Amino acid sequence: MIFATRALLPQGWAENVRITMAEGHISAITVGAKAEAGDVRVSALLPALANLHSHAFQRAMAGMTEHRIAGRDSFWTWRDLMYRFLDRLTPEQMEAIAALVFMEMQEAGYASVGEFHYVHHQPGGAVYANIAELSARIFAAAELTGIGLTHLPVLYTYGGAGEQPLAAGQLRFGNDVDRFAKLVEAVRLAARALPGDTQVGIAPHSLRATNPKDLLQAVPLAAGAPVHIHVAEQPKEVADILAWLGARPVEWLLANTPIGADWCAIHATHMTEAETAGLARSGAVAGLCPITEANLGDGPFNGPGWLAAGGAFGIGSDSNVRISLTEELRTLEYSQRLRDISRNVMVSGEGSVGAAIYLGAANGGAQALGRKSGAIAVGMLADLTAIDLSNPALCALRNDQILDGLAFAASDAVVTDLWSAGRHQVRGGRHIARDHIVAGWRVAAQGLADAL
Ligand SMILES: [Zn+2]
Repeated sequence: MIFATRALLPQGWAENVRITMAEGHISAITVGAKAEAGDVRVSALLPALANLHSHAFQRAMAGMTEHRIAGRDSFWTWRDLMYRFLDRLTPEQMEAIAALVFMEMQEAGYASVGEFHYVHHQPGGAVYANIAELSARIFAAAELTGIGLTHLPVLYTYGGAGEQPLAAGQLRFGNDVDRFAKLVEAVRLAARALPGDTQVGIAPHSLRATNPKDLLQAVPLAAGAPVHIHVAEQPKEVADILAWLGARPVEWLLANTPIGADWCAIHATHMTEAETAGLARSGAVAGLCPITEANLGDGPFNGPGWLAAGGAFGIGSDSNVRISLTEELRTLEYSQRLRDISRNVMVSGEGSVGAAIYLGAANGGAQALGRKSGAIAVGMLADLTAIDLSNPALCALRNDQILDGLAFAASDAVVTDLWSAGRHQVRGGRHIARDHIVAGWRVAAQGLADAL
């Protein structure tokens, strides 16, 4: 059980809160309680966020793509290095890298992750003996770390808009819809061995990596679980889709697919006002990845237009160049301030920006991952994060300023404890398997760096 000096409940901050958990869920909440022997005592308890978008393996490229070469720097040259990297990545390395990534997410305050998983095959494109070999590696990393996993096998059939063939660097991703269906079936079977909060959705990679007929054929494979898709991340992608399909990507999705509350549109950066309002009203979650979008030079999301239309959003760490929940929150808001030459943008009406972003992302992230979480309430998954209010960044703040302190003044070091569906994986700011996981990562990361 957990005893929190303060806890953020749906109705606001409460004092001396005792949380009882059963089978991964919150089974009772007592306010004004006394701590009992054996309780885990924490300073302040928050609903933990879901990290709704990750490509775990890309963590091992962090710091390798920040070197300028005259005339050659863009999103697309970054992608070239990613492809060279994938020529060498082994299943063992995939597992070790994902374990570090999931551990770092939990230490930063994320209880769950949406792993948008697109590397399926061997270098050159041959299928592994187990078609779901690399998904099994992600599952092993999730089991080791205890993170809540929404696994999203990716449909990736074409190398570019207009059904271009896969390039050499993309052969490990490739499946037609029939083989993708077999893959999803194998992944679902393997997922049965994981904890009950595990989900398997699907992710058509993007419009450019599929085609209209295949996309519509693949969507029912989600069977009610989440559907994620990259959309409108880069102006070139928007122009390519417009030239091919006669509509901009979001415009096309709204007109031709059943996009709705079970969908997550990753990035959704370059949209017209009509697309912004239409996508928000569809109920789909905008999957925002502020650090990666800044790192790749994607551009800022239209936050004011999205909020005005009542859109849901969540936060993802995408390329994992830096895994930090507090930095994601402030990068999202700062991207809006820099563009608008304004302050306090990501909030509807008046109120705390930190609370609007944090609680917005808690709800939207849970929705995007098909996860019953995002609030400390009976019946919800026990996805909980504890922060230390005696930390210098937070110690002088009133209750209504705590989430602003977290978003703008604190580092992730304020996180002391983290529960993923009741699994107490971070204690005293450290993941319980940290040393073992870091040792595995060192071998994998060095092996990959040496092979490049
Ligand atoms: Zn992505």
